[in-house]
Amino acid sequence: MTIGVWVLGDQLWAEQAALQSCFDQQKSTPVIFIESLDHVQERPYHLQKLVLVWSAMRHFAEALRQAGWLVAYEQADDFLTPLKAWIEAHQITELRVMMPNDRPFARLIQSLPLPCTVTLVSNNHFIWSEADFREWAGDRKRLVMEDFYREGRRRCNILMAGKQPFGGRWNFDQDNRKPPKGKLTLPEALWFAPDAITQDVIAWVKQDDRFKASQQYWQSEPFQWAVTRDQALQVLHFFLTMRLSDFGPYQDAMVTGEITMWHAMLSPYLNLGLLHPLEVVEAAEQAYLDHQDTWSLSSVEGFIRQVLGWREYMHGVYNFMSDDYPDRNWFNHTQPLPNFYWTGETSMNCLHQILTQVKETGYAHHIQRLMVLNNFALIAGISPQAIENWFHAAFVDAYDWVMQTNVIGMGQFADGGVLASKPYAASANYINKMSDYCGKCTYNPKARTGEKACPFNFFYWDFLDRHRAKLTSQGRMSFILQNLGKIAPEELQAIREEAIAWHNNNVQDDRQAQAGMN
Ligand code: FAD
Ligand code: SF4
Repeated sequence: MTIGVWVLGDQLWAEQAALQSCFDQQKSTPVIFIESLDHVQERPYHLQKLVLVWSAMRHFAEALRQAGWLVAYEQADDFLTPLKAWIEAHQITELRVMMPNDRPFARLIQSLPLPCTVTLVSNNHFIWSEADFREWAGDRKRLVMEDFYREGRRRCNILMAGKQPFGGRWNFDQDNRKPPKGKLTLPEALWFAPDAITQDVIAWVKQDDRFKASQQYWQSEPFQWAVTRDQALQVLHFFLTMRLSDFGPYQDAMVTGEITMWHAMLSPYLNLGLLHPLEVVEAAEQAYLDHQDTWSLSSVEGFIRQVLGWREYMHGVYNFMSDDYPDRNWFNHTQPLPNFYWTGETSMNCLHQILTQVKETGYAHHIQRLMVLNNFALIAGISPQAIENWFHAAFVDAYDWVMQTNVIGMGQFADGGVLASKPYAASANYINKMSDYCGKCTYNPKARTGEKACPFNFFYWDFLDRHRAKLTSQGRMSFILQNLGKIAPEELQAIREEAIAWHNNNVQDDRQAQAGMN
């Protein structure tokens, strides 16, 4: 009997469960990596995502080869052809794959007509296993993230003094919402120059016609992401020493030209498997313990909540929900995605700045994603599936498991409140407070009608008005709906007309832009 291991592109860790299950026979275990070109035609992925994943795969395959595994590295249109050939060549009787993070990919593997047994080994890339999450979720009425997070802190004994949380509180979120006022001294980011392997992938995706759709929208260079576990560990260390102590206060702030602020820049590496979430959480806790006299607990707690709380929770909910979750559309939003999401060309300065940054890097921080990119799509009534597809294409850290819950659930409220207790909808007021974008914009962040009215304003009130009946059922919306009730009927009518006119003009602009491209 011969076992072979197929390592997927986001399972790049020597201790991942399928490899681990063959540790004692590593010298005789065939291992395969496959770059499938058909698979990446699903949407126009960011060129830096393609480079990141394929370069990291090639580096990891080499590391396994050096460690003594019998590694095959294939490039093909589909997965089936190289898999079959490799299974036959090595007379493999059992193919082992660690359970994919993405449900569509698990289904794809199960549908492959392979000439051997296929075993999906339980995934060990998350702190919570699927079974543990199911047990926790049990028959709870609501899957409240804060409850889940506290349970995670207890189970992993993180920032705990016996049964009590450090500092007597579980959550210091209130301390972490400072606007970016005054002169901020921002920390440097840690980037890497591409080595020969990465340069090869860049040259390929930049020129090959099969990536034409991606080449239209995204920059492949400068490519500065880490592509090995060693480099990812350097980014973690850099974050812990240079950024973590001040991570909290400006977590929600947005500043023109500042890509990273105090954020960790760790999601691409966590999602590829180059780092394990528990090692990240434990390292953050240890850094705090080493500097307790000078560091504030709120920054460290804020960061740990992201990884031990939000990240694990999103993954758990993703697996817990039924198969129809990606198709949900509670508000029945059907507007098409404006073309400027792809081009970055819009007179709305906040969107223009962030979309340009995404074109250049494939990255934006959480509030840029949630309160600008996502918020606009929500209040403008864009189809949740269209914006999900865009997020999935545009970000270097995007995968199905993290998209569905963040975009369909948290961002678009398309699940009707399974995940978020109210829609993340906001007017220009929020963006003006939390960023410096509005100062350089042609629109007036205070106006909701008229020539200079900011689209975030008329869309925000139009959104509340359109969905007034549905939103009344969401307890946390009552205060905002009272404010809606104070707007005079004539102004509300003008707001509705602005929203309709914007869509009409935008459809025309998009048609012209498309005609120009063809
Ligand atoms: P930090 O702000 O420094 O946070 C630390 C870590 O916490 C992150 O690295 C990430 O691993 C984790 N984290 C925090 N919040 C979340 C969350 N909601 N879901 C999952 N992990 C979280 N995250 C992705 O990994 N891939 C995505 O494609 C993605 N798309 C998103 C789309 C929308 C609309 C929203 C609202 C959020 C999305 N997120 C996504 C979550 C979050 O915005 C990113 O994880 C974060 O911005 C990554 O940057 P960072 O590593 O500098 O994070
Ligand atoms: Fe964005 Fe409106 Fe501010 Fe312009 S005024 S930057 S469109 S929120």
